[in-house]
Amino acid sequence: MAARILVVEDNPANMELMGYLLQAAGHELLFAHDGREGLEIAAREHPDAIICDINLPRMDGYGVLRKLKENPELKDIPCIAVTALAMVGDREKLLGAGFDGYISKPIDPENFAAGIESYVIGNTSPAAKRDASPLS
Ligand code: MN
Repeated sequence: MAARILVVEDNPANMELMGYLLQAAGHELLFAHDGREGLEIAAREHPDAIICDINLPRMDGYGVLRKLKENPELKDIPCIAVTALAMVGDREKLLGAGFDGYISKPIDPENFAAGIESYVIGNTSPAAKRDASPLS
């Protein structure tokens, strides 16, 4: 299932790797390099899923998530944190903040795309609902 996925990441090497892996899996990608740009693109493009770094310029990943979840048109888009945070409890903190999932860096090339896809399946975003409705 091909999806349109927004990647919000300020590290060029991580961006390149995630982009390569997701495009190789057949997905269409949108890129943002800081939190505010990520929100702007999310609002304009309504992607099927958002992958979001935590430490970002202009607005961090928690700020991006909060703004997404405040917006009725964007709140149902799955938002997956991808971050190097490694301390015990970070997963709970991320999920408690409202992220739909969490993938840790360094990215595992073997499993990254499948991990993201597991969050996109069952997506209830407005775009998915619209696509699933019969034409009338
Ligand atoms: Mn970062």
